[in-house]
Amino acid sequence: KLYNEVQDLKGNIRVYCRIRPFLPGQSQSHTTIEFVGDDGELIVGNPLKQGKENRKLFKFNKVFGQATSQEEIFKDTQPLIRSVLDGYNVCIFAYGQTGSGKTYTMSGPGLSSKSDWGVNYRALHDLFHISQSRRSSIVYEVGVQMVEIYNEQVRDLLSNNGPQKRLGIWNTAQPNGLAVPDASMHSVNSMADVLELMNIGLTNRATSATALNERSSRSHSVLSVHVRGTDLKTNTLLRGCLHLVDLAGSERVDRSEATGDRLKEAQHINKSLSALGDVIFALSQKSSHVPYRNSKLTQLLQSSLGGQAKTLMFVQLNPDVASYSETVSTLKFAERVS
Ligand code: ADP
Ligand code: MG
Repeated sequence: KLYNEVQDLKGNIRVYCRIRPFLPGQSQSHTTIEFVGDDGELIVGNPLKQGKENRKLFKFNKVFGQATSQEEIFKDTQPLIRSVLDGYNVCIFAYGQTGSGKTYTMSGPGLSSKSDWGVNYRALHDLFHISQSRRSSIVYEVGVQMVEIYNEQVRDLLSNNGPQKRLGIWNTAQPNGLAVPDASMHSVNSMADVLELMNIGLTNRATSATALNERSSRSHSVLSVHVRGTDLKTNTLLRGCLHLVDLAGSERVDRSEATGDRLKEAQHINKSLSALGDVIFALSQKSSHVPYRNSKLTQLLQSSLGGQAKTLMFVQLNPDVASYSETVSTLKFAERVS
């Protein structure tokens, strides 16, 4: 194996916490972040309330403070991503309330500046770079799919026939397990191909958002990168898959206020996020039964959760005091799976 660092990681599930900075115009004075340790310790508290019971300590594999750059985030993620070239399945999530920086971490604020690129562009760039430069007898092919899960329905964001088609999830009985075979697969040969596809995906996502206000925060988006390596000397085949997931916002919706579509969305989101939590919890407990079948999200990601697969979750926090209770509930979700 070429990337031994990955083998040294403790277990197959890692949880990183990232705190986004205050945005321009936001008051800096009321932060809930009291302490960020070098070894993944985090203390949060509510500065508007007295008493020790308002301070809570959490422990992660790593905590990234507000000044952390996109590049630093990627550096810690890179070994995991490269293991896809060795035939591993890898799943990287961003979890947190709307506005906590999930999309920023996964995609970045836009495509304009390379230094702002999030994990997904950097990952694809890196996989290309290595797969082309490696002096070996292995020839790689890279294919990309992009889907959205909204109200337990899966839609192809890269379909040539528009984004409206609903997809089923099939068990392909591949060594890789489940996939979405009727989501279009696009082979990519350059970073330009990738950028073009991602633009299509983002546009398709945005198109459907006109009817519903900010739908992107209430759907999960999954970018899947399939890598196939053929060793020309030994005539053997390697397959790895990388799933990059920007989850729906985890915020609780006030049941007394939400009705109709809004309530339905909230219920679907709650259900799928708790199904994800249950799956990761079962895996962390080495449980013999892992409840993949309880949501479309966990069915879709089954091949990259558990077994030899490697999972990384970015737990995203908004440091503002107004987000204190959501911050605590996000951290409790993370605590359960780490
Ligand atoms: P989410 O996807 O969780 O709803 P976003 O990624 O859209 O959150 O982030 C909310 C806002 O905060 C956006 O304007 C985004 O550009 C900004 N933001 C998030 N994280 C960072 C960061 N690490 N550095 C600078 N701006 C950030
Ligand atoms: Mg977002």
